[in-house]
Amino acid sequence: MSSALSAGSAVVDSLPGHAGPLQAVRRMALENRLPHSLLVTGPDGAGNTAFALKLAAELTCLDLNEQGACGVCRSCVLARAGTHSDILRIAPPKEETTIGQIRELRYVATLAPNISPRRVIIIERGETLNDQAANAILKVLEDTPDRLTLMILAPSAQSVLPTIESRAIEIPLRSVDKSSLTQFLMERGEKQEQASAVAAYAGGSPGRALSLLENPQSLELLADVAQWVARVEAAAPAAALKLAEDLKELSDRAKKIIPSEDGVSDRQAVAWVLDAVMAVLQEGLAGGTQRWSPRQTASITREINLSRHLILSYAAADLQLERLLIHMLMDAS
Ligand SMILES: [Zn+2]
Repeated sequence: MSSALSAGSAVVDSLPGHAGPLQAVRRMALENRLPHSLLVTGPDGAGNTAFALKLAAELTCLDLNEQGACGVCRSCVLARAGTHSDILRIAPPKEETTIGQIRELRYVATLAPNISPRRVIIIERGETLNDQAANAILKVLEDTPDRLTLMILAPSAQSVLPTIESRAIEIPLRSVDKSSLTQFLMERGEKQEQASAVAAYAGGSPGRALSLLENPQSLELLADVAQWVARVEAAAPAAALKLAEDLKELSDRAKKIIPSEDGVSDRQAVAWVLDAVMAVLQEGLAGGTQRWSPRQTASITREINLSRHLILSYAAADLQLERLLIHMLMDAS
């Protein structure tokens, strides 16, 4: 079996915002009306993968009940360890899910589950499925054997090909509000001040909040971004170019420390830092002079979003950051 098709990873704790969707799918399973294909959608950091693994553990449990997986059966033990042979994950190695992976999936789909009531196959980054892979997968969706559940993960239903969307039931995951996220982090043992700051930086994304907490360097970097915003609040227009350079330096640091499985590009690192700047502005985390009125903050946020979008598509980051800084300092003068 190729390395790209792997047994499921260890199940992690449930994230806030997941309980409702989990319960809905669990009920379908208990009432024997579980669809063959689920399209799990949610923005970056909503925890699609964590949700899928948790759900896979439930759907393979030998004694599933209203509250969830039993936690003690052989299937639950294997799912927790990440070594359950009835839970398979397909993660695209590069840009696109390969046709070879889908052929393997079609083969695996014909096999009976080893110990569980059903097999669960999780296809990550469903938005990368190309026409050819989608056609192959449709074949699986159309003659899915009874004891197979397919979960396709994607940022949104619109991001996958319509042929896939129309054949799967969508399970949307939403980002959560800041106070529920703060509460969740405090229940995990964080102090209130830290929990509240991290929740603000994470922009309602539990996955992003957890990865920030796992990585103290990224928290330090966020504190430096907040300090940078405080400097901008106090700066004269003449300082725009220097401040743009400093922001670029923060993104160079971000590039080295943002946790990512396949590395972070220069453009993604700048986008990450701009996200952090927006969080600092919106939550008033710079602790500075509050130079901008709410109207000006909204206008600056729009500009940051535009720069972020342009940088991620094609524009030269240095020029965009300079343009942005001039806007921030002129708008405020
Ligand atoms: Zn169990």
